[in-house]
Amino acid sequence: MKRRDFVAAAAALPLAGMRLPTRRLPRTPDPVIPPAPVARPFDLARVRLKPGPFLDAMQVNRRFLMGLEPDRLLHTFRLTAGLPTTAEPLGGWESPDCELRGHFTGHYLSACALMSASLGDAAVKARGDLMVAELARCQQTPGNGYLSAFPEELFDRLRAGRPVWAPFYTLHKIMAGLLDMHTLAGNAQALDVLKRMAAWTAGWCQPLGDAAMARVLEREYGGMNELLYNLSAATGTAWYAELAHRFDHERFFGPLAGGRDELKGLHVNTNIPKIIGAARRWELTGEARYHDVADYFWHEVTSRRAYCTGGTSNGEGWNAEPGALAGELSAETQECCTSYNMLKLTRHVFGWTADAAAADYYERLLWNGVLGTQHPADGDKLYYVPLASGYWKLFGTPLHDFWCCTGTGSESAAKFGDSIWFHDDDGVWVAQFIASELDWQEKGVRLVQDTRFPAVAGTAITVRTARPTRFALRVRVPGWTSGGGAALDGRALDGFAAPGGWFVLDRVWHDGDRLEVALPMALHLAPMPDDATVQAVMYGPLVLVGKLGSDGITDQNRRAEPTRPGRVPEFHDQPPAVPTLRARGADPAAWIQRVSAADQPPEFRTSGQERDVALVPFHTLYDERYAVYWKFAG
Ligand SMILES: [Zn+2]
Repeated sequence: MKRRDFVAAAAALPLAGMRLPTRRLPRTPDPVIPPAPVARPFDLARVRLKPGPFLDAMQVNRRFLMGLEPDRLLHTFRLTAGLPTTAEPLGGWESPDCELRGHFTGHYLSACALMSASLGDAAVKARGDLMVAELARCQQTPGNGYLSAFPEELFDRLRAGRPVWAPFYTLHKIMAGLLDMHTLAGNAQALDVLKRMAAWTAGWCQPLGDAAMARVLEREYGGMNELLYNLSAATGTAWYAELAHRFDHERFFGPLAGGRDELKGLHVNTNIPKIIGAARRWELTGEARYHDVADYFWHEVTSRRAYCTGGTSNGEGWNAEPGALAGELSAETQECCTSYNMLKLTRHVFGWTADAAAADYYERLLWNGVLGTQHPADGDKLYYVPLASGYWKLFGTPLHDFWCCTGTGSESAAKFGDSIWFHDDDGVWVAQFIASELDWQEKGVRLVQDTRFPAVAGTAITVRTARPTRFALRVRVPGWTSGGGAALDGRALDGFAAPGGWFVLDRVWHDGDRLEVALPMALHLAPMPDDATVQAVMYGPLVLVGKLGSDGITDQNRRAEPTRPGRVPEFHDQPPAVPTLRARGADPAAWIQRVSAADQPPEFRTSGQERDVALVPFHTLYDERYAVYWKFAG
């Protein structure tokens, strides 16, 4: 079901005219000892990206964010609060008549907070601070803690079961943005505003009985549970967690807790954020049921509902049985919000186990599903990543989209320093091969990762320390490599970890020590689980796409047309016929040759095909038709 169908479907919710019983307080569950994480992420401010594709993308996003005018982002908030405003309204899903208006302003707060921490950027922080101060003014007018760009009447409709888009989804973005401004950018006012919003939320939910609340949860509500668990953790206040629990969607969790995939027919991005909330409940309370929900969901989606890119969803839904993906290729696959949320969830799952497979998945989705979803020219974002052949990346029109994915994309490209490094008391994990410098303050150590990955297949870590320090340096040995090795200060080391594990060097480190790790990459094919004649070409973790030219792409259709509220970007174009490929031998290297120099970004070309094609990493291709999956003949 697509977004545009939701408003109509809302009318069918069976809430109208219901008398709402006063709710009894639930029994607080017996306390369980929360689990200790295996691997803890570092604060974003401790990691600085070094030159490379991720820092480039973050700088593009910085220009995109700073180019947006605060008065326009605040316009509908001020209108709703009855404050004077003369700003020109934004378009798309931020139009004054869109029931999701204000959602992007929430993402904007998060993006400013993430970006200011990532870059140590005072101007971005000042922008976020200004937004918080102005939103605080808007909150003063109703005086009951409510803060939104639309009136409370939308929540009345939600309570009454009348048609409305997704009020709590929108509120979640604003509340999460405020919490990010507090925790990442040190803004105390943001926490005050957020506490008032949480109090308003508690007051709204309080009269609803569990049955009425369960019906409210049938409407998309973002990550309200996750946000409130995070607020509870940030403030040490237990009742926020009780309020969070009211947003735990038990009807959705039940089958997952029992190890059953009943995801078919569900809207994907409505549901992943609820799972992140379950993950947070497990981390804060130790209730095993919530671990099981999140753990089963993560394994199921990443192993049986994900494409070669790591992404999931078609037409925003899970439309088929698990493992049935060959029939799920379209121009509307892999909504970018779902990739943003799967990365968030994977970060938690990795922290529970330090399982290299979770970091492998993170890498695959980060490179193939997130990095290339922002246009390098102006920073506008992608909604879907088409995985049917012959389409192109249909980016938004600046100031006229503000889709959900414009918001999550703005956050994704503000936190590329995240999840590269993790630690425990004894050492660090190098989970991603991204040029960066880590300030490991607890140990008084700096670790510098120099890499031109994937142009060069490997990485190098240099230790900077004032005094000799013992710790374990653990470098991921991905499942896609074979025959790698390591060298310390230029001398080859004996033994290397098997693919899918960690190369660990636990020793006393001295200033200037340098560990070099080679991780050879090879071409391989990724067949569809349910149709081995449909395959993608990969190089290490990278999806290689075939360049199909730009015939028929014009200035009129290169970007999505300005989007009305609730509408999604659409192609008005029949893709051209795409050549089939013929595998010549088991090793794709027999018919696909690298054409770029060994130290340059990897580019390839097929040979001996009816029509040969150039193959390039998916994240590097823009404004051109492509094929990810190919029909293989013979
Ligand atoms: Zn989206």
